[in-house]
Amino acid sequence: MQAVVVTPRSDPLTDNKGLPAFDRIRAEHVEPAVQRALREAQAALDVLEARVQPTWAGLVEPLERLLDGIDHVWGPVSHLLGVCNSPALRVAYEAVQPDVVALQLRIGQSVPLYKAFCTLRDAPEFDSLSEARQRIVQATIRDAEHSGVGLQGAEKERFSAIQLELADLGTQYSNHVLDATKAYHLDLTTHAEVAGLPQSLLRMAAQAARSGEAPAEQEVDGNHGPWRITLDFPSFGPFMQHSRRRDLREELYRAYLTRASGGELDNTEIMRKILALRAEMAHLLGFADYAALSLASKMAPSVDDVLVLLEQLRCSSYESGLRDLNALRDFARSSGAEEADDLRQWDTAFWAERLREARFDFNDEQLRPYFPLPRVLDGVFALARRLYGVTILAADGETPVWHPDVRFFRVLGEDGRPVAAFYLDPYSRPQEKRGGAWMDECQGRSKLCAAPGESVRLPVAYLVCNQSPPVGNQPSLMTFREVETLLHEFGHGLQHMLTRIDEGLCSGIRNIEWDAVELPSQFMENWSYHRATVRALSGHFETGEPLPDAWFDKILAARTFRAGSDMLRQLMLALTDLKLHHGYDPAGPVSPFAVHRAVEERTLLLPPMPEDRFLCAFSHIFAGGYAAGYYSYKWAEILSADAFSAFEEAGLDDERAVADTGRRFRDTVLALGGGRHPMDVFRAFRGREPNVEALLRHAGLGSREAA
Ligand SMILES: [Zn+2]
Repeated sequence: MQAVVVTPRSDPLTDNKGLPAFDRIRAEHVEPAVQRALREAQAALDVLEARVQPTWAGLVEPLERLLDGIDHVWGPVSHLLGVCNSPALRVAYEAVQPDVVALQLRIGQSVPLYKAFCTLRDAPEFDSLSEARQRIVQATIRDAEHSGVGLQGAEKERFSAIQLELADLGTQYSNHVLDATKAYHLDLTTHAEVAGLPQSLLRMAAQAARSGEAPAEQEVDGNHGPWRITLDFPSFGPFMQHSRRRDLREELYRAYLTRASGGELDNTEIMRKILALRAEMAHLLGFADYAALSLASKMAPSVDDVLVLLEQLRCSSYESGLRDLNALRDFARSSGAEEADDLRQWDTAFWAERLREARFDFNDEQLRPYFPLPRVLDGVFALARRLYGVTILAADGETPVWHPDVRFFRVLGEDGRPVAAFYLDPYSRPQEKRGGAWMDECQGRSKLCAAPGESVRLPVAYLVCNQSPPVGNQPSLMTFREVETLLHEFGHGLQHMLTRIDEGLCSGIRNIEWDAVELPSQFMENWSYHRATVRALSGHFETGEPLPDAWFDKILAARTFRAGSDMLRQLMLALTDLKLHHGYDPAGPVSPFAVHRAVEERTLLLPPMPEDRFLCAFSHIFAGGYAAGYYSYKWAEILSADAFSAFEEAGLDDERAVADTGRRFRDTVLALGGGRHPMDVFRAFRGREPNVEALLRHAGLGSREAA
């Protein structure tokens, strides 16, 4: 928001006081600037550790300044790596990244800082701190303790050894999954073997079959074999949906389900070791099991509470799942399929896709002309105004950007004063930009880090999407899914930007329990299923005509297609994850496969296969950050659906009611960020604790009438 201060011969990363000087930052600036910032932070940390006072001003303020100094330089570098990747930038990034991580670890595990935080927590001064400040102190102590700072002697050594071993086992596990995925392929040579496969898959498979040869002069067209099908999801998924060869579907499915479960790439023992070490680590930290440790930093109150919710969802979706299965059987039978009365795991994706085609004969491409980006943006900004009273104004040219297509916007509050700003980088640039969509913070709201003369530093966000760029005079035309994605990231952005917390360490999305972080983003997605909103953000790029009602009805109907079956699968994953980390003894006689099987028997509609070794490739929980946390996907959906239902109750088409409820959402969920416990925030908005009813209703589940 501030003007960029340009000093002659300045280093654009460290000397810049306002928003990043994206027009001047080059790869060669990265190493010297980051090293300088690290040296300064290091020196500040040495001083702080030596003279630390257990008071807000003597501990937390210098710490926030120190962390902000690192972010100021490292933030733009990380951002550019995602949106302007180049070999030179990657080399520079990799050269300094280990030092950044090492310093962050040193800060998080600093014993003098930890002791000072504990003293502050136990001092009389603590009670006079604001709730947000108390949360910062408590979260810092908790995170330090979870990284072992409170342990002594032999226990501390054991803890460090476990962490190292877990990191190593996680890498081995994920390498095995990758190698096992790569090791298998199904080579097909006749047109009969590829019957039913869509052109895009054929092209990819023909390309894969030729990958060992010299690069083809011409692009492979896919009409000529051989074709190579692999266990990579972009190949495996469409094959299971479209291949008319049941025998080949079975072969591929069995290969997929037994990845990394035998020979040199076997993950069975690694998995057992990981579970045992996690349990031991939790015990060292004083927790009953790893699930309890995981939940100690999350919103969900306890493992049992989560289990109760998941069980509620299971009961409510089971019958609907059975109806889905019967519908598949009926459809297969009416199509004359021999397997209709003996559908197996490798048949469901295929028949579900045929049924989907029969019921909803539309595809993404047909909707694109109705969603040109400029129109969609107008609609999204109008929605933000209706709900939250904010005005969003284009401010392109006010600050440098990293690519000519990037837009810059200012956000004004209800009183017309600036409250935030954001960059929007909408289009895909495969040569230099990471795939997917995300929101990240450019700078956070903070009183402490305000520039001289300012009362508070205002938050600025990066919104990054990857949709098709404009072609010729035609604007970027979005799929419905891309519209949903934009709303999702905009929701994250609003929580970052509309925060009213002045404490930099917990404003916006900072310090929010991570099973609650997806609440505002998924909440915003709900509006893409509201007729009036979709009318307002659609407009044919040639005629201006909004999306016709008939199309919208199909979108609505497709939303709940096989929702019961999808829910059951997600519950199977979430329950397996929790049961392996709660009340399970990895050293005992029961194998993890038996735990998984018991969950499958309650959640899946077809009998589990005895040779199922899915756990050997469940990287989310064995090699990713989702251990005893996979439930978070459903948890956040429960919250966001329940929040949206407050608007439904008030009346979605009653402008006054929508505005009142929107202001309440803004003043609670969006404004309070990590400054208050998310359960208290939710209660403040909803007047009660969350429940699963809205999620079930939106998915068309939970009652017979909903079928
Ligand atoms: Zn998200």
